[in-house]
Amino acid sequence: MVRSKLLLANLRKYGKFINIYIHMHMSHHIFIPNLKVAIYPGNVLTLNMSKPQGFTYKSGQYMFVNCAAVSPFEWHPFSITSAPGDNYLSVHIKIVGDWTRNLKTKFSEACRAPLNGQSGLLRAGCTEGDNSPSALPKVMVDGPYGAPAQGYRQYEVVLLVGLGIGATPMISILKDMMNNFKAMEEEEWDAIEEGGRVGDGKSTSAHQKKARLNGFKTRRAYFYWVTREQSSFDWFKGVMNEVAEEDHREMIELHSYCTSVYEEGDARSALIAMLQSINHAKNGIDIVSGTRVMSHFAKPNWRSVYKRIALNHPKARVGVFYCGPAALTKELRQLSLDFSHNTSTKYDFHKENF
Ligand SMILES: Cc1cc2nc3c(=O)[nH]c(=O)nc-3n(C[C@H](O)[C@H](O)[C@H](O)COP(=O)(O)OP(=O)(O)OC[C@H]3O[C@@H](n4cnc5c(N)ncnc54)[C@H](O)[C@@H]3O)c2cc1C
Repeated sequence: MVRSKLLLANLRKYGKFINIYIHMHMSHHIFIPNLKVAIYPGNVLTLNMSKPQGFTYKSGQYMFVNCAAVSPFEWHPFSITSAPGDNYLSVHIKIVGDWTRNLKTKFSEACRAPLNGQSGLLRAGCTEGDNSPSALPKVMVDGPYGAPAQGYRQYEVVLLVGLGIGATPMISILKDMMNNFKAMEEEEWDAIEEGGRVGDGKSTSAHQKKARLNGFKTRRAYFYWVTREQSSFDWFKGVMNEVAEEDHREMIELHSYCTSVYEEGDARSALIAMLQSINHAKNGIDIVSGTRVMSHFAKPNWRSVYKRIALNHPKARVGVFYCGPAALTKELRQLSLDFSHNTSTKYDFHKENF
């Protein structure tokens, strides 16, 4: 036990140097030409890049990022937040230590100063304004690399849980699901138009749709995003709104939780809850998250979440994918075991901690 803890501590300590070694000797690096950067509240930076030719990946996977202006030999892992069907590649980076802080400084220096009231991408959108993209620091990527969440497509029902920046792999999954649902709808329309010949595979787009849907079994997703700061809702506003507006068959259920607000039912949050309901009913926008998704206060009751899914999907096998700090792993793993044992619904637990 002590030995494994020591090994873990050493791995953490020397992790950076291992990354440097691996990337100097073993990897194939791709230089990214067209880069956009956005700096969001809550110390998050997003890099939005054109997808290099031949770069294929699965939702849930991650890649290493290098920025020579920050450190020529350091490579850091980040989950990919774009989806395989998107024509761009993106990562969302939380500023936590030296490298991420320096990365933000380098990009902030190259970008114009934030203007009040502008959204994240515009605020630091370095492809517009005085700074030309060529002035941005150069970025290289290496990947993709496999991660637990990439297996989500084999489950008909998935429970996706992201804590703080741990939502990143789930965001890619949500986008992938939306792309696949759209492809499914189009395929159904094609079949109707062609008089029932489902995907005869003659046209290129039919081929693409078939390939995309190959092995895609997911029909229902429950996404829980728990974050401390209200301002974090800005990070993934676009995708949350897209799902809320375009998921016509209601296959994805979105739940955002803001833990810095008092629990629902607590008198101290009663006023904000009332204003929230009125505004959502009137304008369709939640005043806490600034999105179409109604946010809840405090932490989710995980037992109730599992119970509701078990009631909705008896005899189903549910893929639970958690990403975030290790603290919640134990509770979710235990609930997966308990509910698999006591109900007809089986929960397979997968986790990634960062
Ligand atoms: C597979 C994977 C996917 C990740 N995806 C994302 C993501 O989408 N967005 C995001 O913001 N962060 C992500 N991370 C974490 C990110 O790699 C680290 O936060 C970053 O490398 C920290 O670098 P730093 O020098 O700024 O901080 P450091 O000073 O090195 O560390 C600050 C803190 O981050 C932890 N940390 C440092 N390096 C790693 C690492 N390689 N893995 C895990 N923890 C680390 C340290 O233990 C410390 O607590 C991911 C990590 C992994 C392993």
